[in-house]
Amino acid sequence: MKRIVILGAGESGSGAAILAKCKGMDVFVSDMGEISPMYQALLNQHEIAWESGKHTPELILNADEVIKSPGIPLTAPLVKQLIEQGTPIISEIEFAARYTTAKMICITGSNGKTTTTSLLFDMLRRAGLDVGLAGNIGNSLALQVAQEDHAYYVIELSSFQLDNCYDFKADIAILLNITPDHLDRYDHEFQNYVDAKFRITQNQTSSDAFIYWSEDPVINREIARIHPQATLYPFGSNQQNLAYTDGSKLIINATPNITPMAIQLSELSLQGKHNQYNSMAASLAAQILHIHNDVIRESLQQFAGVDHRLQYVATVRGVRYINDSKATNVNSCWYALESMTTPTVLILGGTDKGNDYSEIDQLVRDKCHTLIFMGKDNSKLIAHFEHSGIPFISVHSLQDAVQTAYEVAKTGDTVLLSPCCASFDLFKNYEDRGEQFTQAIRNL
Ligand code: ADP
Repeated sequence: MKRIVILGAGESGSGAAILAKCKGMDVFVSDMGEISPMYQALLNQHEIAWESGKHTPELILNADEVIKSPGIPLTAPLVKQLIEQGTPIISEIEFAARYTTAKMICITGSNGKTTTTSLLFDMLRRAGLDVGLAGNIGNSLALQVAQEDHAYYVIELSSFQLDNCYDFKADIAILLNITPDHLDRYDHEFQNYVDAKFRITQNQTSSDAFIYWSEDPVINREIARIHPQATLYPFGSNQQNLAYTDGSKLIINATPNITPMAIQLSELSLQGKHNQYNSMAASLAAQILHIHNDVIRESLQQFAGVDHRLQYVATVRGVRYINDSKATNVNSCWYALESMTTPTVLILGGTDKGNDYSEIDQLVRDKCHTLIFMGKDNSKLIAHFEHSGIPFISVHSLQDAVQTAYEVAKTGDTVLLSPCCASFDLFKNYEDRGEQFTQAIRNL
Protein backbone atom coordinates (compact mmCIF):
# COMPACT_ATOMS: atom_id res chain seq x y z
CA MET A 1 0.00 0.00 0.00
CA LYS A 2 1.39 3.40 -0.97
CA ARG A 3 2.25 5.52 2.09
CA ILE A 4 1.37 9.20 1.72
CA VAL A 5 2.48 11.67 4.37
CA ILE A 6 0.92 15.08 4.48
CA LEU A 7 2.80 17.93 6.12
CA GLY A 8 0.48 20.66 7.34
CA ALA A 9 -3.19 20.11 8.12
CA GLY A 10 -4.88 23.26 6.91
CA GLU A 11 -7.45 23.36 4.14
CA SER A 12 -5.18 21.90 1.47
CA GLY A 13 -3.54 19.27 3.70
CA SER A 14 -6.80 17.97 5.13
CA GLY A 15 -8.35 17.83 1.66
CA ALA A 16 -5.34 15.94 0.30
CA ALA A 17 -5.55 13.48 3.21
CA ILE A 18 -9.20 12.72 2.50
CA LEU A 19 -8.57 12.26 -1.21
CA ALA A 20 -5.60 9.94 -0.52
CA LYS A 21 -7.72 7.92 1.92
CA CYS A 22 -10.52 7.65 -0.66
CA LYS A 23 -7.95 6.29 -3.11
CA GLY A 24 -7.01 3.54 -0.64
CA MET A 25 -3.62 4.82 0.46
CA ASP A 26 -1.95 4.57 3.87
CA VAL A 27 -2.24 8.21 5.00
CA PHE A 28 -0.51 10.06 7.82
CA VAL A 29 -0.87 13.78 8.57
CA SER A 30 1.70 15.72 10.60
CA ASP A 31 1.57 19.36 11.62
CA MET A 32 4.20 21.20 13.65
CA GLY A 33 1.53 23.66 14.79
CA GLU A 34 -1.81 23.08 16.46
CA ILE A 35 -4.32 21.48 14.06
CA SER A 36 -7.60 23.38 14.30
CA PRO A 37 -10.48 21.45 15.95
CA MET A 38 -12.44 21.57 12.68
CA TYR A 39 -9.71 19.74 10.74
CA GLN A 40 -9.05 17.34 13.63
CA ALA A 41 -12.72 16.33 13.51
CA LEU A 42 -12.60 15.96 9.72
CA LEU A 43 -9.52 13.71 9.89
CA ASN A 44 -11.05 11.60 12.67
CA GLN A 45 -14.28 11.25 10.72
CA HIS A 46 -12.28 9.77 7.82
CA GLU A 47 -10.20 7.60 10.19
CA ILE A 48 -6.97 9.27 9.14
CA ALA A 49 -3.96 9.06 11.50
CA TRP A 50 -2.49 12.43 12.49
CA GLU A 51 -0.18 14.20 14.93
CA SER A 52 -0.28 17.81 16.03
CA GLY A 53 2.45 20.05 17.52
CA LYS A 54 5.31 17.83 16.33
CA HIS A 55 6.88 15.96 13.42
CA THR A 56 7.86 12.38 14.29
CA PRO A 57 10.67 11.58 11.81
CA GLU A 58 10.15 7.79 11.74
CA LEU A 59 6.48 8.24 10.78
CA ILE A 60 7.37 10.68 8.01
CA LEU A 61 10.66 9.58 6.49
CA ASN A 62 9.12 6.22 5.47
CA ALA A 63 6.69 7.95 3.06
CA ASP A 64 6.56 6.96 -0.60
CA GLU A 65 5.42 10.48 -1.41
CA VAL A 66 4.92 13.64 0.65
CA ILE A 67 2.33 16.36 0.10
CA LYS A 68 3.61 19.60 1.59
CA SER A 69 1.50 22.55 2.62
CA PRO A 70 2.49 25.69 0.67
CA GLY A 71 3.19 27.43 3.99
CA ILE A 72 6.15 25.16 4.86
CA PRO A 73 9.44 26.36 3.34
CA LEU A 74 11.81 24.01 1.55
CA THR A 75 14.39 24.96 4.16
CA ALA A 76 12.46 23.32 7.02
CA PRO A 77 14.83 20.66 8.47
CA LEU A 78 12.52 17.71 7.88
CA VAL A 79 11.78 18.82 4.33
CA LYS A 80 15.51 19.07 3.67
CA GLN A 81 15.95 15.52 4.99
CA LEU A 82 13.18 14.24 2.70
CA ILE A 83 14.78 15.96 -0.29
CA GLU A 84 18.19 14.49 0.60
CA GLN A 85 16.83 10.94 0.78
CA GLY A 86 15.00 11.48 -2.54
CA THR A 87 11.38 11.30 -1.35
CA PRO A 88 9.14 13.06 -3.89
CA ILE A 89 7.46 16.16 -2.44
CA ILE A 90 4.44 17.51 -4.26
CA SER A 91 1.72 20.10 -3.71
CA GLU A 92 -1.91 19.37 -3.02
CA ILE A 93 -2.80 20.76 -6.47
CA GLU A 94 -0.39 18.35 -8.18
CA PHE A 95 -1.86 15.45 -6.21
CA ALA A 96 -5.53 16.33 -6.73
CA ALA A 97 -5.10 16.89 -10.46
CA ARG A 98 -4.11 13.21 -10.91
CA TYR A 99 -7.65 12.18 -10.03
CA THR A 100 -9.79 14.45 -12.18
CA THR A 101 -10.23 15.07 -15.87
CA ALA A 102 -11.72 18.52 -15.28
CA LYS A 103 -10.56 21.54 -17.25
CA MET A 104 -8.19 23.59 -15.12
CA ILE A 105 -8.23 27.37 -15.31
CA CYS A 106 -5.46 28.73 -13.11
CA ILE A 107 -4.72 32.26 -12.00
CA THR A 108 -1.49 33.59 -10.56
CA GLY A 109 0.29 36.94 -10.21
CA SER A 110 1.58 39.15 -7.43
CA ASN A 111 -1.70 41.07 -7.15
CA GLY A 112 -5.26 40.54 -8.31
CA LYS A 113 -5.47 36.75 -8.04
CA THR A 114 -8.47 36.49 -5.72
CA THR A 115 -10.40 39.17 -7.55
CA THR A 116 -9.81 37.66 -11.00
CA THR A 117 -10.45 34.11 -9.81
CA SER A 118 -13.74 35.10 -8.16
CA LEU A 119 -14.85 37.11 -11.18
CA LEU A 120 -14.12 34.27 -13.61
CA PHE A 121 -15.87 31.80 -11.32
CA ASP A 122 -18.89 34.12 -11.35
CA MET A 123 -18.88 34.17 -15.19
CA LEU A 124 -18.68 30.38 -15.47
CA ARG A 125 -21.39 29.84 -12.89
CA ARG A 126 -23.69 32.34 -14.58
CA ALA A 127 -23.11 30.42 -17.82
CA GLY A 128 -24.40 27.28 -16.10
CA LEU A 129 -21.13 25.33 -16.16
CA ASP A 130 -20.40 22.72 -13.49
CA VAL A 131 -17.52 24.64 -11.90
CA GLY A 132 -15.61 24.58 -8.62
CA LEU A 133 -13.59 27.37 -7.01
CA ALA A 134 -10.30 26.20 -5.51
CA GLY A 135 -6.71 26.99 -4.58
CA ASN A 136 -6.32 29.78 -2.05
CA ILE A 137 -10.08 30.30 -1.91
CA GLY A 138 -12.88 28.09 -0.62
CA ASN A 139 -12.54 24.33 -0.32
CA SER A 140 -9.33 22.71 -1.45
CA LEU A 141 -9.14 21.20 -4.91
CA ALA A 142 -8.40 17.79 -3.36
CA LEU A 143 -11.52 17.83 -1.20
CA GLN A 144 -13.70 18.75 -4.15
CA VAL A 145 -12.15 16.06 -6.34
CA ALA A 146 -12.79 13.55 -3.54
CA GLN A 147 -16.36 14.55 -2.79
CA GLU A 148 -18.04 16.47 -5.61
CA ASP A 149 -15.81 16.53 -8.65
CA HIS A 150 -16.64 19.23 -11.20
CA ALA A 151 -16.13 19.61 -14.95
CA TYR A 152 -14.19 22.87 -14.55
CA TYR A 153 -12.09 24.36 -11.77
CA VAL A 154 -11.07 27.97 -11.41
CA ILE A 155 -7.97 27.84 -9.22
CA GLU A 156 -6.07 30.65 -7.51
CA LEU A 157 -2.42 29.63 -7.31
CA SER A 158 0.23 31.30 -5.20
CA SER A 159 3.89 30.92 -6.08
CA PHE A 160 4.21 28.53 -3.13
CA GLN A 161 1.54 26.23 -4.54
CA LEU A 162 3.26 26.29 -7.92
CA ASP A 163 6.62 25.45 -6.33
CA ASN A 164 5.78 21.77 -5.97
CA CYS A 165 3.84 21.27 -9.19
CA TYR A 166 5.56 19.04 -11.76
CA ASP A 167 3.14 17.23 -14.11
CA PHE A 168 0.20 19.51 -13.40
CA LYS A 169 -1.05 21.37 -16.47
CA ALA A 170 -3.33 24.36 -16.69
CA ASP A 171 -5.66 24.26 -19.70
CA ILE A 172 -5.92 28.01 -19.32
CA ALA A 173 -3.25 29.89 -17.35
CA ILE A 174 -3.55 33.54 -16.34
CA LEU A 175 -0.51 35.51 -15.17
CA LEU A 176 -1.62 38.96 -14.03
CA ASN A 177 1.66 40.67 -13.09
CA ILE A 178 4.95 40.06 -11.31
CA THR A 179 6.33 42.47 -8.74
CA PRO A 180 8.72 41.57 -5.92
CA ASP A 181 6.95 39.76 -3.07
CA HIS A 182 7.73 36.94 -0.64
CA LEU A 183 11.43 37.24 -1.46
CA ASP A 184 12.29 35.88 1.98
CA ARG A 185 11.07 32.48 0.69
CA TYR A 186 13.12 32.72 -2.53
CA ASP A 187 16.65 33.29 -1.20
CA HIS A 188 16.07 37.02 -1.86
CA GLU A 189 16.48 36.21 -5.56
CA PHE A 190 13.71 37.81 -7.61
CA GLN A 191 14.35 35.37 -10.47
CA ASN A 192 13.47 32.42 -8.23
CA TYR A 193 10.09 34.00 -7.57
CA VAL A 194 9.64 34.71 -11.31
CA ASP A 195 10.47 31.07 -12.09
CA ALA A 196 7.83 29.93 -9.58
CA LYS A 197 5.18 32.12 -11.21
CA PHE A 198 6.08 30.84 -14.69
CA ARG A 199 5.53 27.26 -13.55
CA ILE A 200 1.92 28.02 -14.38
CA THR A 201 2.87 27.53 -18.05
CA GLN A 202 4.78 24.30 -17.62
CA ASN A 203 3.48 21.29 -19.58
CA GLN A 204 1.17 23.53 -21.65
CA THR A 205 0.95 22.83 -25.37
CA SER A 206 -0.30 24.95 -28.25
CA SER A 207 -3.87 23.80 -27.59
CA ASP A 208 -3.69 25.43 -24.14
CA ALA A 209 -4.01 29.14 -23.44
CA PHE A 210 -1.66 31.53 -21.67
CA ILE A 211 -3.32 34.86 -20.80
CA TYR A 212 -0.93 37.55 -19.55
CA TRP A 213 -0.52 41.29 -19.03
CA SER A 214 1.54 42.40 -22.03
CA GLU A 215 2.85 45.58 -20.36
CA ASP A 216 4.62 43.86 -17.52
CA PRO A 217 8.37 44.07 -18.28
CA VAL A 218 9.18 41.01 -16.20
CA ILE A 219 6.57 38.85 -17.94
CA ASN A 220 7.72 40.03 -21.36
CA ARG A 221 11.37 39.36 -20.63
CA GLU A 222 10.53 35.89 -19.40
CA ILE A 223 8.32 35.03 -22.40
CA ALA A 224 11.16 36.05 -24.72
CA ARG A 225 13.53 33.84 -22.74
CA ILE A 226 11.52 30.65 -22.25
CA HIS A 227 9.06 30.75 -25.20
CA PRO A 228 5.99 29.17 -23.59
CA GLN A 229 4.38 26.54 -25.83
CA ALA A 230 0.82 27.66 -25.14
CA THR A 231 -1.17 29.94 -27.43
CA LEU A 232 -0.63 33.49 -26.16
CA TYR A 233 -3.50 35.80 -25.19
CA PRO A 234 -2.07 39.18 -24.18
CA PHE A 235 -4.16 41.91 -22.57
CA GLY A 236 -3.19 45.55 -22.05
CA SER A 237 -3.95 49.12 -22.94
CA ASN A 238 -3.68 49.13 -26.73
CA GLN A 239 -5.14 47.41 -29.77
CA GLN A 240 -2.23 45.04 -30.25
CA ASN A 241 -3.77 43.00 -27.45
CA LEU A 242 -6.67 40.55 -27.60
CA ALA A 243 -8.28 42.42 -24.72
CA TYR A 244 -7.67 46.14 -24.32
CA THR A 245 -9.23 49.44 -23.44
CA ASP A 246 -9.72 52.28 -25.90
CA GLY A 247 -10.11 54.84 -23.11
CA SER A 248 -13.89 54.55 -22.80
CA LYS A 249 -14.58 50.85 -23.44
CA LEU A 250 -13.13 47.48 -22.63
CA ILE A 251 -12.85 45.31 -25.75
CA ILE A 252 -12.45 41.55 -25.60
CA ASN A 253 -11.64 39.59 -28.72
CA ALA A 254 -10.02 36.28 -27.79
CA THR A 255 -10.25 34.73 -31.25
CA PRO A 256 -10.94 36.14 -34.70
CA ASN A 257 -13.92 33.85 -35.35
CA ILE A 258 -16.12 35.32 -32.61
CA THR A 259 -17.84 38.66 -32.25
CA PRO A 260 -15.76 40.94 -30.02
CA MET A 261 -17.37 42.07 -26.80
CA ALA A 262 -17.36 45.74 -25.82
CA ILE A 263 -18.44 47.25 -22.53
CA GLN A 264 -18.25 50.84 -21.28
CA LEU A 265 -15.67 51.27 -18.50
CA SER A 266 -18.29 53.07 -16.44
CA GLU A 267 -20.46 49.93 -16.53
CA LEU A 268 -17.83 47.73 -14.86
CA SER A 269 -18.79 46.80 -11.34
CA LEU A 270 -15.09 46.65 -10.37
CA GLN A 271 -13.61 50.11 -10.75
CA GLY A 272 -9.96 51.17 -10.96
CA LYS A 273 -7.30 50.52 -13.59
CA HIS A 274 -6.12 47.33 -11.92
CA ASN A 275 -9.64 45.96 -12.08
CA GLN A 276 -9.81 46.72 -15.80
CA TYR A 277 -6.86 44.35 -16.16
CA ASN A 278 -8.50 41.75 -13.93
CA SER A 279 -11.70 42.09 -15.96
CA MET A 280 -9.82 41.66 -19.24
CA ALA A 281 -8.04 38.54 -18.01
CA ALA A 282 -11.23 36.90 -16.74
CA SER A 283 -13.20 37.83 -19.88
CA LEU A 284 -10.55 36.40 -22.21
CA ALA A 285 -10.66 33.10 -20.33
CA ALA A 286 -14.45 33.07 -20.49
CA GLN A 287 -14.44 33.70 -24.24
CA ILE A 288 -11.88 30.93 -24.76
CA LEU A 289 -14.35 28.65 -22.93
CA HIS A 290 -17.08 29.76 -25.37
CA ILE A 291 -19.07 31.67 -22.76
CA HIS A 292 -21.52 33.93 -24.49
CA ASN A 293 -20.66 37.66 -24.57
CA ASP A 294 -23.97 38.54 -22.90
CA VAL A 295 -23.10 36.41 -19.88
CA ILE A 296 -19.62 37.91 -19.64
CA ARG A 297 -21.07 41.41 -19.86
CA GLU A 298 -23.69 40.67 -17.21
CA SER A 299 -21.03 39.35 -14.84
CA LEU A 300 -18.78 42.38 -15.43
CA GLN A 301 -21.72 44.64 -14.60
CA GLN A 302 -23.05 42.76 -11.60
CA PHE A 303 -20.14 41.00 -9.90
CA ALA A 304 -20.28 42.06 -6.26
CA GLY A 305 -16.50 42.19 -5.71
CA VAL A 306 -14.48 40.52 -2.99
CA ASP A 307 -14.33 41.69 0.63
CA HIS A 308 -11.36 43.80 1.74
CA ARG A 309 -10.40 44.74 -1.84
CA LEU A 310 -11.30 48.37 -2.50
CA GLN A 311 -14.56 47.60 -0.74
CA TYR A 312 -16.96 50.46 -0.13
CA VAL A 313 -17.89 50.53 3.57
CA ALA A 314 -20.06 53.59 4.20
CA THR A 315 -20.43 57.32 3.74
CA VAL A 316 -20.31 59.26 7.01
CA ARG A 317 -20.94 63.01 6.99
CA GLY A 318 -20.22 63.15 3.26
CA VAL A 319 -16.95 61.17 3.52
CA ARG A 320 -16.61 57.81 1.75
CA TYR A 321 -14.74 55.05 3.59
CA ILE A 322 -13.01 52.34 1.55
CA ASN A 323 -11.56 49.12 2.95
CA ASP A 324 -8.57 47.88 0.93
CA SER A 325 -7.04 45.93 3.81
CA LYS A 326 -5.82 43.24 1.38
CA ALA A 327 -3.36 45.77 -0.08
CA THR A 328 -0.43 44.21 1.74
CA ASN A 329 2.25 45.49 -0.62
CA VAL A 330 3.14 48.88 -2.12
CA ASN A 331 2.09 47.98 -5.64
CA SER A 332 -1.50 47.19 -4.66
CA CYS A 333 -1.73 50.49 -2.76
CA TRP A 334 -0.49 52.22 -5.93
CA TYR A 335 -3.50 50.86 -7.84
CA ALA A 336 -5.88 51.76 -5.03
CA LEU A 337 -4.63 55.37 -5.03
CA GLU A 338 -4.72 55.46 -8.81
CA SER A 339 -8.44 54.72 -8.68
CA MET A 340 -9.23 57.54 -6.22
CA THR A 341 -11.32 60.33 -7.73
CA THR A 342 -11.59 62.62 -4.66
CA PRO A 343 -9.11 64.10 -2.18
CA THR A 344 -7.98 61.21 -0.03
CA VAL A 345 -6.94 60.49 3.53
CA LEU A 346 -4.73 57.40 3.31
CA ILE A 347 -4.29 55.04 6.26
CA LEU A 348 -1.20 52.87 5.83
CA GLY A 349 1.31 50.93 7.89
CA GLY A 350 1.75 47.60 9.63
CA THR A 351 4.39 44.90 9.29
CA ASP A 352 6.81 46.16 6.65
CA LYS A 353 8.08 43.46 4.24
CA GLY A 354 11.06 45.50 3.02
CA ASN A 355 8.86 48.08 1.29
CA ASP A 356 10.06 50.84 -1.00
CA TYR A 357 7.47 53.60 -0.58
CA SER A 358 8.93 55.78 -3.33
CA GLU A 359 6.70 53.84 -5.76
CA ILE A 360 3.66 55.72 -4.39
CA ASP A 361 5.32 59.15 -3.83
CA GLN A 362 3.78 60.77 -6.89
CA LEU A 363 0.27 59.41 -6.34
CA VAL A 364 0.40 60.37 -2.67
CA ARG A 365 1.30 63.93 -3.73
CA ASP A 366 -1.48 63.97 -6.37
CA LYS A 367 -4.29 62.40 -4.36
CA CYS A 368 -3.71 62.58 -0.58
CA HIS A 369 -4.11 65.56 1.71
CA THR A 370 -3.28 63.64 4.91
CA LEU A 371 -1.49 60.39 5.72
CA ILE A 372 -2.24 58.36 8.82
CA PHE A 373 0.43 55.86 9.81
CA MET A 374 -1.06 52.95 11.72
CA GLY A 375 1.42 50.43 13.09
CA LYS A 376 3.33 49.31 16.12
CA ASP A 377 6.44 50.93 14.66
CA ASN A 378 5.88 53.79 12.20
CA SER A 379 9.48 55.00 12.07
CA LYS A 380 10.16 53.84 8.48
CA LEU A 381 7.02 55.55 7.18
CA ILE A 382 7.86 58.74 9.06
CA ALA A 383 11.42 58.74 7.71
CA HIS A 384 10.16 58.29 4.17
CA PHE A 385 7.33 60.82 4.13
CA GLU A 386 8.48 63.50 6.61
CA HIS A 387 9.97 65.68 3.87
CA SER A 388 7.12 65.13 1.39
CA GLY A 389 5.23 68.21 2.55
CA ILE A 390 2.09 66.13 3.14
CA PRO A 391 0.75 66.27 6.70
CA PHE A 392 0.95 62.95 8.52
CA ILE A 393 -0.25 61.64 11.87
CA SER A 394 1.26 58.61 13.57
CA VAL A 395 -1.07 56.34 15.58
CA HIS A 396 -0.77 52.86 17.05
CA SER A 397 -4.29 51.50 16.96
CA LEU A 398 -7.11 51.17 14.48
CA GLN A 399 -9.50 53.09 16.73
CA ASP A 400 -7.15 56.07 16.74
CA ALA A 401 -6.63 55.81 12.98
CA VAL A 402 -10.36 55.91 12.22
CA GLN A 403 -11.02 58.66 14.77
CA THR A 404 -8.18 60.75 13.32
CA ALA A 405 -9.41 60.19 9.78
CA TYR A 406 -12.89 61.24 10.85
CA GLU A 407 -11.48 64.47 12.26
CA VAL A 408 -9.29 65.45 9.31
CA ALA A 409 -11.54 64.36 6.39
CA LYS A 410 -13.79 66.97 4.79
CA THR A 411 -17.08 66.48 2.95
CA GLY A 412 -16.41 64.96 -0.47
CA ASP A 413 -13.18 63.22 0.65
CA THR A 414 -12.42 59.52 0.69
CA VAL A 415 -10.77 57.75 3.61
CA LEU A 416 -8.82 54.82 2.19
CA LEU A 417 -7.35 51.99 4.25
CA SER A 418 -4.72 50.58 1.86
CA PRO A 419 -1.86 49.70 4.19
CA CYS A 420 1.03 48.54 1.89
CA CYS A 421 1.94 46.25 4.76
CA ALA A 422 1.04 42.94 6.36
CA SER A 423 -1.23 43.15 9.39
CA PHE A 424 0.43 40.93 11.96
CA ASP A 425 1.73 43.71 14.25
CA LEU A 426 -1.76 44.76 15.42
CA PHE A 427 -4.18 42.22 13.90
CA LYS A 428 -4.70 38.49 13.39
CA ASN A 429 -4.68 38.88 9.62
CA TYR A 430 -5.83 41.26 6.89
CA GLU A 431 -9.46 40.11 7.25
CA ASP A 432 -9.38 41.00 10.95
CA ARG A 433 -7.93 44.42 10.08
CA GLY A 434 -10.64 45.05 7.46
CA GLU A 435 -13.41 43.87 9.78
CA GLN A 436 -12.21 46.05 12.65
CA PHE A 437 -12.00 49.00 10.25
CA THR A 438 -15.56 48.41 9.07
CA GLN A 439 -16.81 48.10 12.64
CA ALA A 440 -15.02 51.26 13.76
CA ILE A 441 -16.68 53.19 10.93
CA ARG A 442 -20.09 51.82 11.85
CA ASN A 443 -19.44 53.06 15.41
CA LEU A 444 -18.65 56.61 14.32
P1 ADP B 1 -4.19 38.66 -4.50
O1 ADP B 1 -5.15 37.53 -4.35
O2 ADP B 1 -3.22 38.45 -5.61
O3 ADP B 1 -3.55 39.09 -3.23
P2 ADP B 1 -6.49 40.45 -4.61
O4 ADP B 1 -7.44 40.26 -5.71
O5 ADP B 1 -6.82 39.90 -3.28
O6 ADP B 1 -5.05 39.93 -5.04
O7 ADP B 1 -6.19 42.01 -4.48
C1 ADP B 1 -5.27 42.48 -3.49
C2 ADP B 1 -5.02 43.94 -3.65
O8 ADP B 1 -4.23 44.15 -4.82
C3 ADP B 1 -6.30 44.74 -3.85
O9 ADP B 1 -6.66 45.31 -2.64
C4 ADP B 1 -5.96 45.78 -4.90
O10 ADP B 1 -5.64 47.02 -4.29
C5 ADP B 1 -4.70 45.25 -5.59
N1 ADP B 1 -4.91 44.73 -6.95
C6 ADP B 1 -5.94 43.98 -7.41
N2 ADP B 1 -5.77 43.65 -8.71
C7 ADP B 1 -4.58 44.17 -9.09
C8 ADP B 1 -3.83 44.18 -10.30
N3 ADP B 1 -4.26 43.56 -11.41
N4 ADP B 1 -2.65 44.84 -10.31
C9 ADP B 1 -2.18 45.46 -9.19
N5 ADP B 1 -2.85 45.50 -8.02
C10 ADP B 1 -4.03 44.87 -7.95
